[in-house]
Amino acid sequence: MVVPDRVWHYDRFPSKKIHGLPGRPRKDPSRLILESPLGWSAALRTGSLCRTGLLKRTFLYIKIMLLAIGMRNWQTESALERDEFFMGLAFAEAEKGCAQAEVPVGAVLVGADGQVLSREHNRPISSNDPTGHAEILAIRSASARVGNYRLPETTLYVTLEPCVMCVGAMVHARVKRLVFGAPDPRSGAAGSVLDLTGASCFNHRIDVTGGVLAGRCAEILRAFFEQRRG
Ligand SMILES: [Zn+2]
Repeated sequence: MVVPDRVWHYDRFPSKKIHGLPGRPRKDPSRLILESPLGWSAALRTGSLCRTGLLKRTFLYIKIMLLAIGMRNWQTESALERDEFFMGLAFAEAEKGCAQAEVPVGAVLVGADGQVLSREHNRPISSNDPTGHAEILAIRSASARVGNYRLPETTLYVTLEPCVMCVGAMVHARVKRLVFGAPDPRSGAAGSVLDLTGASCFNHRIDVTGGVLAGRCAEILRAFFEQRRG
C-alpha cells in the first residue's frame, strides 16, 4: 500500500486539480489534527474529522496512559519489595532477640542510598536498660557510625509499632520515614494508641507505613509471650 506523502502531495499537484478550489489549497484535515495543539477540538469544530489522524492520536494516548500506569505499578511494587526486604532484616534481628529471651523486636536503620546503617534488637533485660529498645539502639548505633546526631533522609524499619519513647527519639534524630510491621494496640505511638509521628507540637513529621510483614512480626511476639506464660 502506498502511503501518500503530504508534502509531496502539496508540492507536485496544482491545488485546483486535487481539491477543485483554484488558487486556494484546502488544508489536509489529517495535518490539521496532527499539527494543531487543539487538533481534537479543531477537527470536531470544522467537521473535518480524519480517521487516520484520530486513530493515531487515540493509539498514542492509550500508549502513554498504559506506560504511565505500568510505571506507577512498577514503582509501587518495587517500593513494597524494598520495604519487605528491609523488614525481613529487622525480623531476623527480632529472632536474635528471641533467642536471648528478650521481647522479639528488631530494627534496621537504612540510609537514603539504601545502605544499612545499623541493625539491632531489643535488649532492655540483658543490658539492664529500660531504654534499650531496638529502635533506640539502632538510632544510637547509626548516629555513632555516621558521626551525626541527626539522621535525615533515613528510614527506620521495626517489626513492632514503636512506643512513645522511640517515636520521640526518631523525631529528635530527624528520621524521615518509619516502616513498622505489627501494630501495637497497647502502646503504639504511630497511630494505634496515639500518633506522635505527625504531632503539631513537634517541628518534625515522620512519614509512616505500617503493616509490612505484619503477620510474621505479630506471630513471633505471640509465640514468645505464649511460651513465657506456659
Ligand atoms: Zn520503644
